[in-house]
Amino acid sequence: MKKFDPASKIQDLLQFGEFGGVNPSVTDSATYTFMQAQTMSDTFKGETEGCFLYSRHWNPSNKYLSDALAAMEGTEAGWVTASGMSAITNVILHCVHSGDHIVSSMTTYGGTFAFFNNWLKKFNVEVTFVNITDLDSVRKAMRKNTKVIYTESMTNPLLQISDIPELSKIAKEFNAKLVVDNTFTPLVISPAMLGADVVVYSMTKFINGKNDCVAGAICSSDEFISSLIDVNDGASMLLGPVLDPLRSSSILKNLHTLHIRMQQHGHNAMYLAERFKEIGLKFNYPGMPEHPGHELMKSLMNEGFGFGGMIAIDLKTADKANKVMEIMESKGVGYLAVSLGYFKTLFSNSGKSTSSEIPDDIQQEMGMSEGLIRFSVGLDNDIERSFQLILASLKEAEVL
Ligand SMILES: *Cc1c(COP(=O)(O)O)cnc(C)c1O
Repeated sequence: MKKFDPASKIQDLLQFGEFGGVNPSVTDSATYTFMQAQTMSDTFKGETEGCFLYSRHWNPSNKYLSDALAAMEGTEAGWVTASGMSAITNVILHCVHSGDHIVSSMTTYGGTFAFFNNWLKKFNVEVTFVNITDLDSVRKAMRKNTKVIYTESMTNPLLQISDIPELSKIAKEFNAKLVVDNTFTPLVISPAMLGADVVVYSMTKFINGKNDCVAGAICSSDEFISSLIDVNDGASMLLGPVLDPLRSSSILKNLHTLHIRMQQHGHNAMYLAERFKEIGLKFNYPGMPEHPGHELMKSLMNEGFGFGGMIAIDLKTADKANKVMEIMESKGVGYLAVSLGYFKTLFSNSGKSTSSEIPDDIQQEMGMSEGLIRFSVGLDNDIERSFQLILASLKEAEVL
């Protein structure tokens, strides 16, 4: 029997439009009318089902998208935000008080690292960074005041795999919450089904897949989401990172093709990994048996969505990486750009871009080479042709 199938969970959700449209109508209102004053005050207290009060709290378009994301994750509830960073910062700020402690993977998205390492200090919240694949060091880092274990299912940019079930056990033992960023592996991994308490996303990436907007999401229990948007003390209600309803309705439509896109991203990335191996290039792809997290990933992943679209190659020096990237762009392999999950291939040198917030000594400790090129492999119809262009670029830059 097939395990959890998140794509079918999205498909099974029937969301009828206000006037019978196949797509729900787009909310074009910031505030909502009431016929009875009592209903308004009940809604304020969060006691009325199906009523909307004000768009920063809930609006119908954001509710449709949140419901679809919760179905995909197998969680009771979801909430969408204006960026991935706002999803992450809201969850963290909601979980910790001054004097609390967080244990985080050392390799995370650069913005998350900067938030933990630089910004949280202002509020007297301490963060211990650990190698998340070393469960002993995670356990050793735990303290009585540890409120959160934070990781990414597949870490950026080193593509380490987090052992979510084991991390969840450690979190429970210490009464902490396990928060998992699943941006690199939607559908492929379902963190909540594996024991994560809260799942966060940058929907800017694979979920939306069009690079036409920035957006984020939080999936968790009813209790957690309700408390996050509580009018009196909910971080999301008070910090207010509301997603524009026009955007959430367009992301909802893109969510319905996510499974086909993930399959193609994964297929193309696997093809490149196999060819990189043949030509003796140093590369990193969790779909290959050489990857230290390969077996773990196989034990965690849902069937049929591949191993993700992210692959990294190591050219040792930033000079070589830059040269190859410029040639690849001129040959049409894709774009030299940050971000990921786009229909065209994107590549960037992580150390000098999306991870530049991480100090050089920590980059070294993480094992991040300055010549690392991170690829977000696109939906190329002819990936053999794309490989030939990459090969020609490597030769022209005299790397091979
Ligand atoms: C891009 C990204 C973020 C931040 O998301 P934004 O939508 O840019 O705010 C967080 N985590 C990961 C893994 C990312 O790739």
